Amino acid sequence: MKIDWDRRTCARKGHVTYAPDDPRLRARLHAETALGEAWRCLRCGDFVLGAPHGSGAADDAPLVPRGKVLRDLFILRFLAIERAVRGVFIVLVALAVWKFSNSQDSVRRLFDEYLDVFRPVFRHFHYDLDHSPVVDTIQKTFGYKHSTLVLVAVLLLVYALIELVEAVGLWYAKRWAEYLTVVATAAFLPLEIYELTEHISWLKIGTLVLNILAVLYIALAKRLFGLRGGRRAFEEERHSASLLEVEESAGVPARAA
Ligand SMILES: [Zn+2]
Repeated sequence: MKIDWDRRTCARKGHVTYAPDDPRLRARLHAETALGEAWRCLRCGDFVLGAPHGSGAADDAPLVPRGKVLRDLFILRFLAIERAVRGVFIVLVALAVWKFSNSQDSVRRLFDEYLDVFRPVFRHFHYDLDHSPVVDTIQKTFGYKHSTLVLVAVLLLVYALIELVEAVGLWYAKRWAEYLTVVATAAFLPLEIYELTEHISWLKIGTLVLNILAVLYIALAKRLFGLRGGRRAFEEERHSASLLEVEESAGVPARAA
């Protein structure tokens, strides 16, 4: 399925037209119609009726993301939302752990009381509550030191903060955020794989696959770490995709003639 990101974005945000000073370039973007003047949209390339949204030197024209560059922006925003959701969720878990570390004793008393109430019932069904793995796990959790729980809460909070900073930076397509995402995500991959060896769940597998794809995609598409020509090649690609540049280079033979 081919998605026309250009037209979709124009449908949502409206077209972007610009009247460059250079008369040759101007003529390529401009049309006189029976209904008045029309200008070519810098994103989708359609002619749009009405006065241009801006005018001036061709170099000052807005650099409108289109085509592959625009698609990359959509993917980055999807990753930004995914990271924001994960970040908020982890903040909540950290708060829960911190709250639990403060009321550990009262919660344990409550749990033990419940256990006392249910023990005879379970015994009736020949179920030994004191040796059940679930109860065992819960009792072990109560056994954790207060300081350990606080440390876990702080680490979770730091992790959540990294995710949220990534989310904001990716949303605005900042290059530092792309680096941060690739480095931080790759750094946590061994931990995610270790998690899977302990306990397999579809959510964990999905997260791992998504993170591996995100690291590869961002590093290659955004040409980080000098990959595929690095930043210079990335900027060139961004500019060469702009409609003004396309028109300008198309106009070269005409100018030479
Ligand atoms: Zn348009």
